[in-house]
Amino acid sequence: SRELHPYDTIVRIGGVAFGGAAFRVIAGPCAVESREQLRNSAAAVQRSGACALRAGAYKPRTSPYGFSGHGPEGLQILRDIGDETGLPVVTEIMDTADLDLVAEKADALQIGARNMQNFALLRAVGKSGKPVVLKRGMSARIEELLLAAEYLLAAGNDQVILCERGIRTFETATRNTLDLNAIPYLKQRSHLPVLVDPSHGTGIRDLVTPMALAAAACGADGILVEVHENPAAALSDGAQSLYPDQFQALMDSLAPIVRAV
Ligand code: PEP
Ligand code: MN
Repeated sequence: SRELHPYDTIVRIGGVAFGGAAFRVIAGPCAVESREQLRNSAAAVQRSGACALRAGAYKPRTSPYGFSGHGPEGLQILRDIGDETGLPVVTEIMDTADLDLVAEKADALQIGARNMQNFALLRAVGKSGKPVVLKRGMSARIEELLLAAEYLLAAGNDQVILCERGIRTFETATRNTLDLNAIPYLKQRSHLPVLVDPSHGTGIRDLVTPMALAAAACGADGILVEVHENPAAALSDGAQSLYPDQFQALMDSLAPIVRAV
């Protein structure tokens, strides 16, 4: 909390600092689908000024028949594209059994909404010392998000970024209800950087840009946003993935606060 730690914690992913003056944009497809798909999507987000690449090799899918990622092969593609572009890479870890491999290949580990209270995973990722993007559980209170982060810190890892990605409410017009109240609340209570994920927060492509701008307005340290070279062909989350030209327009709007790394 702020009482024990008055200064903002800066989290470094690759060479990129989160939690300082610059607004940071992590972008990329929901999942690693193929080398070509990731290469093209990474080129698009890099061209527009993203500072890091996101893509999942292990995907938590509601249906067991959904595309659940390419696992180790996907991780290797992600690492290769990270090396080709120079962009640090962020990817989800779902199981402690995969930790050594994911920690070896990724620059930062994402703990997804469904695992925010997987305490064994939190403890193991805490011990790994890798930077973490910790997403808010879909039915988690802010207090529970902060206590999940505390698991990571208590295990010796202060390289933690919090991520608001929407919560489940009675509203069904959007995939989730993006709780932007959480941003100034978290910034006042906690020293950790806070990102907003307007992609999972809305589930609807055309709502992503306005909510990304709203995230900047309410004091977030950056956004985590899904961008796909061809959203219509995406194997997961195509409906909420920006087209490269939409992402370019968003980055143009954010230009005054997005600084070079
Ligand atoms: C994702 O980032 O693709 C993802 C699965 O996010 P969440 O855990 O927020 O649903
Ligand atoms: Mn997704």
